[in-house]
Amino acid sequence: MQGAAGILPEEFTDEGDDPRDSAAVKIRAEQLELLIDQSYPAAYMSLLIAAVLVMILWEAVDHGSLLVWLGAVVLTGLSRIMVFIQYWRWPPLETQVPLRERLYFLTMVAYFSVWGIGALWLMPPDSPVHQVIIVYFLIGMAGSAIAVFSANRFMLLCAVALLLVPSLIWMFSRGEALYVGIALGGTAFLLSAIRSSRILSRAMRQNLSLKHRLMRARAEAEQLARIDELTGLANRRALYEEGENLAAQSRRLGNPLSLIALDVDHFKQINDTHGHLWGDNALQHLSRLLTASLRETDVCGRIGGEEFAILLPGTPLEDAVGVAETLRAKLEASPLVMPTGELPMTASLGVTEGNAPVGELIRQADVALYRAKSLGRNRVESCCENTSELVESEAASG
Ligand code: GH3
Ligand code: MG
Ligand code: MG
Repeated sequence: MQGAAGILPEEFTDEGDDPRDSAAVKIRAEQLELLIDQSYPAAYMSLLIAAVLVMILWEAVDHGSLLVWLGAVVLTGLSRIMVFIQYWRWPPLETQVPLRERLYFLTMVAYFSVWGIGALWLMPPDSPVHQVIIVYFLIGMAGSAIAVFSANRFMLLCAVALLLVPSLIWMFSRGEALYVGIALGGTAFLLSAIRSSRILSRAMRQNLSLKHRLMRARAEAEQLARIDELTGLANRRALYEEGENLAAQSRRLGNPLSLIALDVDHFKQINDTHGHLWGDNALQHLSRLLTASLRETDVCGRIGGEEFAILLPGTPLEDAVGVAETLRAKLEASPLVMPTGELPMTASLGVTEGNAPVGELIRQADVALYRAKSLGRNRVESCCENTSELVESEAASG
């Protein structure tokens, strides 16, 4: 994890995680969410544990000191709980995550300092039993910190060190066998925490990063499933989906929606004369020409071998006929250049307008398209000037 605006050192960052990469930012936000979700119950529980410790120490320690310490635990504990509540009420935007991390970190340091340094301050000098009880409580708190902060190794190590190091130093400094023995046990615990934290937090980071890679791969696969491989245009499925959205939008806003169906003339001859590969090149040539000629809001898709459909939102029939005528003329004027010469291409186009489902719009445009074919090809016809055609089309659609 990259430093929380400079708080977390580089050595605790994910290898290869560039914070400018949106997946890295998302992973970092999820680590914070995990930290907060895990800390919340533990924060309440540790307030209860502090109260139990005060009760146990009541007969051995000055009451004023105990109450001051308990007050400090409650105050710093509440400041952490406020950070959690703020997080849930106002979930951070991605840019705010470092600031929230910093708040979380600062309140955590305050809280665990009160525990670690405060416990040392409370040590009754002449009651080894109560001293051992305090260390026992600190080690219990450190164990719970390892579980709670597993999403972030740096926080985990800070919490465990703040809890244990002051008391361990004090015990070593006393030099007596009993204290040195307990301090050695505590140190062994601290070292094993450092080691296990590395494994835990690496596994956690790998999980999160794998999850994001899977999500990205899924989004890419879904995107690919909507694209026609040969031309890069929308495929039939994507065109139908887009068409349903556009038709619903047009109905709601009362805007016109037109559809052009386009079929390349005598395409079979192109394949037969020049080979399938040049047939494919011809389709790609046509697709580039269509993409370059249409508006960004238009949706162009390949719905069959050499058949295309174009949705033109906000365009009435007369204008769509004009667009179709422009496309026809451009294609006629732009032969495909081959090493052996130029390959002329033409297409027939049928145009319709309406808010019907896309399948129905395509059927209507096809009626006009067939008329264009029968009238000699390389021309534009619109639906449905002849009402008997529309009746035929509706009958065909059931
Ligand atoms: P018309 O003017 O009546 O439309 O005649 P046409 O030859 O264009 O129509 P027809 O339906 O007879 O032939 C379409 C041809 O398109 C047949 C098929 O082999 C070819 N085709 C379909 N998909 C592809 C493709 O992806 N690549 C290539 N190269 N050819 C394809
Ligand atoms: Mg065809
Ligand atoms: Mg054709």
